[in-house]
Amino acid sequence: MKKNSTHKNGKDGHRYAQETRLIWGRSYTPKWDYAHHVIPPVSSSSTFRLDSTKRGAQGFVEFAHHAEDFRVQTRSPVYIYDRLGEPNKDMLEENLAIAERSECAVTFSSGMGAVSALCGILLGSGSEIVAHRTLYGCTYSLFKNWMPRNRIKVTWVDFTDLKALDQAISPQTRLLYFESPVNPTLELIDMASVVEIARNHNRNRKPDNRIHTAVDNTFATPFCQRPIEFGIDFVIESLTKGICGFGTDVGGVVAGPEWSYNQLLLYRKDFGGILSPKSAWPILVYGLPSLAVRFRQQMQNAIAVAEALERDNRVRSVSYPGLDTFRQRSLAHKQMRDYDGRFAPGTIVYFTVSGETAAERHRNAETVVDYIAEHSYSMTLAVSLGIIRTLIEHPGSMTHSSIPLEEQVKRGMDPGGIRLSVGLENPDDIIHDLRQALDHVRKSRPKHGNGVDRKSRKTRPVRRPVLS
Ligand SMILES: *Cc1c(COP(=O)(O)O)cnc(C)c1O
Repeated sequence: MKKNSTHKNGKDGHRYAQETRLIWGRSYTPKWDYAHHVIPPVSSSSTFRLDSTKRGAQGFVEFAHHAEDFRVQTRSPVYIYDRLGEPNKDMLEENLAIAERSECAVTFSSGMGAVSALCGILLGSGSEIVAHRTLYGCTYSLFKNWMPRNRIKVTWVDFTDLKALDQAISPQTRLLYFESPVNPTLELIDMASVVEIARNHNRNRKPDNRIHTAVDNTFATPFCQRPIEFGIDFVIESLTKGICGFGTDVGGVVAGPEWSYNQLLLYRKDFGGILSPKSAWPILVYGLPSLAVRFRQQMQNAIAVAEALERDNRVRSVSYPGLDTFRQRSLAHKQMRDYDGRFAPGTIVYFTVSGETAAERHRNAETVVDYIAEHSYSMTLAVSLGIIRTLIEHPGSMTHSSIPLEEQVKRGMDPGGIRLSVGLENPDDIIHDLRQALDHVRKSRPKHGNGVDRKSRKTRPVRRPVLS
């Protein structure tokens, strides 16, 4: 309680629990000179008053020229113009660095803005990315369709095959890029092993040719996993998802080492993909401070839902790191830990509906998802994830549709795969709605009443919009 006496030289909270720090941040921060607010005001000013040309000049000199140890800076920055910096996103960035345990964090207008900015500062014509074969659809499309235009080559490998990864690295490789858990399959990548491979290659390289490692941590959020603790250089988060948590705002962040801070700021200034302060503010004031309590409950719900799905004979497979049957169980227990070291398997479940053939599973998945879209109360058909409302989608025809179907199968996705992001509702309601939808799996060809179970009496015929 003594915590909030914000003296000028502040109490940075290092001795306090992480969930406390996500609420109070740096406590006193020079980024914000409104000394008597408990909650920082929404900063909404595209430009800032400069007392003199001298102060203006000073602002331009100081921008993106943070000296070493910028984190202990105690004098307010000279704010000039929103695209360079402003209090709300600067404060959010300080708190995101606390959350990720990184040296710095720089926000962007979306998760994809963060991915492209990271590529922008690390890569140039002729350099190469080695990427895991399965990625979020838009990241796949960025790497596949846009990088080659800048003569940046992307090599796809299965990062669970460490030998193949090692062999895919060339003298031009500058970035090893992957997600863990992978969107949407929830496959895990062993981060410490990837770091070790990069370090072995870097031993003989000059600083300019170094290989960097980056993890998109969006599925886990820093509450469940902090890749930097495993030696990963850069972490990407789509703030839109679990960190914002309420589904109100779009944003992204790159968290990484101190040396990258100025470059990320300069890149953002010139390419322009800034996070609006009106979006930074709710993430700073509601999203990040409530991350721990939301995720603790959402994870409990996810475990209950995953176990119920696993028991259901209309479900073919369930992939969720919190299940005892999870294929990479020991890696999950090693990597996915909350701030107190407790196992934290996340809030996303990937499952496939029964069906003999891929085509049948695909059809059954559409039946389930369409039924939910039309009839369910406790969840809805929508992309995005990690928020307090339960969302369901069919990656094969939606979020990952930029990956051709044959490629999806090669990359470990099942055409009948369904992605479920478990929210804060009562888990019994979520399970009830899923079961009702699953009741309809085998009813594409109804058998004159006999095979029809009781629960379907109330339901209207299923409308089947084509999703792809
Ligand atoms: C949603 C998502 C992104 C992109 O984030 P946006 O904020 O939508 O740009 C990137 N990676 C993963 C894993 C995602 O789920």
